[in-house]
Amino acid sequence: MIAKGNDLMSLMYKSTRNSSNKVLASQAVLQGLSNEGGLFVPETIPVLDKTMEQLAAMDYREIAYEVMKLFLTDYTEEELKDCIKKAYDSKFDTAEIAPLKKVGESYYLELFHGATIAFKDMALSILPHLLTTAARKNNIKEEIVILTATSGDTGKAALSGFADVEGTKIIVFYPKSGVSRVQEKQMVTQKGDNTYVVGIHGNFDDAQTGVKKMFNDRELNQKLKEAGYLFSSANSINIGRLVPQIVYYVYSYVTLFKNNQIAKDEKINIVVPTGNFGNILAAYYAKCMGVPIEKLICASNENKVLFDFFHSGRYDKNREFHLTESPSMDILVSSNLERLIYHVANNDSEVTSKRMKALSEKGVYEISEDMKNNLKDFVGGWADASQTMEAIQKEYREHNYVLDTHTAVAASVYYRYRDETKDDTKTVIVSTASPYKFTESVLKAIHTGDLPEDDYEQAKLLKSISNTQIPKAVEELREAPIVHTNECEVDEMPSLVEKILKINEL
Ligand SMILES: *Cc1c(COP(=O)(O)O)cnc(C)c1O
Repeated sequence: MIAKGNDLMSLMYKSTRNSSNKVLASQAVLQGLSNEGGLFVPETIPVLDKTMEQLAAMDYREIAYEVMKLFLTDYTEEELKDCIKKAYDSKFDTAEIAPLKKVGESYYLELFHGATIAFKDMALSILPHLLTTAARKNNIKEEIVILTATSGDTGKAALSGFADVEGTKIIVFYPKSGVSRVQEKQMVTQKGDNTYVVGIHGNFDDAQTGVKKMFNDRELNQKLKEAGYLFSSANSINIGRLVPQIVYYVYSYVTLFKNNQIAKDEKINIVVPTGNFGNILAAYYAKCMGVPIEKLICASNENKVLFDFFHSGRYDKNREFHLTESPSMDILVSSNLERLIYHVANNDSEVTSKRMKALSEKGVYEISEDMKNNLKDFVGGWADASQTMEAIQKEYREHNYVLDTHTAVAASVYYRYRDETKDDTKTVIVSTASPYKFTESVLKAIHTGDLPEDDYEQAKLLKSISNTQIPKAVEELREAPIVHTNECEVDEMPSLVEKILKINEL
């Protein structure tokens, strides 16, 4: 039997909230969210069709192809390889792309060797290429305009991913007084003729609401269309971000195998510092693809909504919001969890919709006993501020290895898990940011004297006490000229977009 309009080999994507809504991978990449607000999920999760021995002979890009070809089935081999080649190149400061470092008895998977020295580069360096390829395949003639609201990090990673990618423009809105000095400098020095950065006079919520309004503004969308533009987003729920994240889990297992750290088929545990649940969901997909993973350990900071969920089966976002030293994990609604809910409900979109409706109306939902039983692969843990600082101190003292604050949450959770359970399965701890991205917080943990005020002086101090190199991204920031000076009031956002795109001048 042949599915309507598609060839036999195509993997279809369904919405978590409406199973009859099915699209091809490239269409899911273009759309981002499904019409009724659901997330796209693959109809079945494909299984790796290469052996460990075959994979062990491949580099990062080749493994990326082997994983992504199974999910993005309507992209041709040439298209996919081209996207991969453009993404994982000299933007990364190591040919390994995602090095695995043995530290004591654990392994750190370093996902911070890209342009913005944090893990979002892994997906945001390929998404622009997947998106422009999808537009071409679906005969979309308009130029893609990415609109993003950022509280700091995602904006910069998206800007560097889209910079100078033909057929795209990117406009990033950030709260003018609501991001760190370094974050602002990273954005306003962004190169690329197709990049635009705007500081708004409001907070992050204002920026996000403003962007959402523009996506839903019919009149604006029509004007854009007439001028040859189409809005799109680089949101973390896009499968074009999720699928590339599965790659490094396969790669880390292959690396352990290749380096004789594990026997054939030996199981490993994975620990992920979690916020929006995208990164750890990719690890779950890797497990479903056949990678021998035992436990998926989900590490939270004081915003421990996920920890409570894994323990009680009840998700409750009605609680105090904590600002922590691991800001990229300060999240109370983890959007990608919806996909896991759908899978543990045996791919039932009705069961999922009901939960998501309760979440948006009351901020709470509960899952059934059966669903809870399907969550056995996951372990929830959390670390407070002092435990996080202790983890940085411990790895530095014992192994002279410096963790950033997010990775330290994961390390702290893991070491307590191992003490309590005596589970000595080999374990990969996912390292999501360079310590040079959160230099001040890291120095507070491992340096006893006074701290210099200047960011670059802090980096130099970290370099001298940790014996590591200052990343290129930090060096460049020092000299980079400021090229973006746009500012506006919240209600001026749409007119500024029109001005940037020169819509009324056409
Ligand atoms: C985004 C981010 C996270 C959280 O990842 P999710 O996929 O949202 O769970 C963790 N650490 C860092 C440094 C990040 O930037």
